[in-house]
Amino acid sequence: MDLKEYVTIVEDYPKEGIRFKDITTIMDKGEVYKYATDEIVKYAKEVGAEIIVGPEARGFIIGCPVAYALEVGFAPVRKPGKLPRETIAVEYDLEYGKDTLTIHKDAIKPGQRVLIVDDLLATGGTVEATVKLVEQLGGVVAGCAFLIELSYLNGRDRLKGYDVTALVQY
Ligand code: IMP
Repeated sequence: MDLKEYVTIVEDYPKEGIRFKDITTIMDKGEVYKYATDEIVKYAKEVGAEIIVGPEARGFIIGCPVAYALEVGFAPVRKPGKLPRETIAVEYDLEYGKDTLTIHKDAIKPGQRVLIVDDLLATGGTVEATVKLVEQLGGVVAGCAFLIELSYLNGRDRLKGYDVTALVQY
């Protein structure tokens, strides 16, 4: 299946000059969503993932069905104030300004093999922050999987030494 056919390009969203890759047109078709999930499940098995970690909100959409299929857990990474128990936090740079991501302190066991998933790899800032959270908890990043990679933004450069896969490249 050519997943690219099901990605919708939205011009000038969220601001002028951005060509937003909309994955909701993958998710709203059961067989396409299943195909994308199954491809990431295959990768997760190859890298020996023991738990899935995904940043809000689209990382949940990709990560939760993968965790379900593998019968492993899913740990959410969220913006500050969203997780109810004790968290650790990592600050990261955005194009303009900074943002913070958090994870529950007990979400990952030391030595556990973690697959990080998100819908899209752009500059790599989000996944790099997620890697730091996982490693601060003693987790081992077994791999990082995305539906889409914007390869011209060189996000992989921030993930040197980590195993990275993406189902669709731009
Ligand atoms: P990065 O941190 O620059 O790699 O940006 C990746 C994050 O931004 C991911 O969590 C994506 O959900 C989001 N993102 C950036 N561009 C797009 C897009 O075109 N479509 C969907 N999500 C995007």
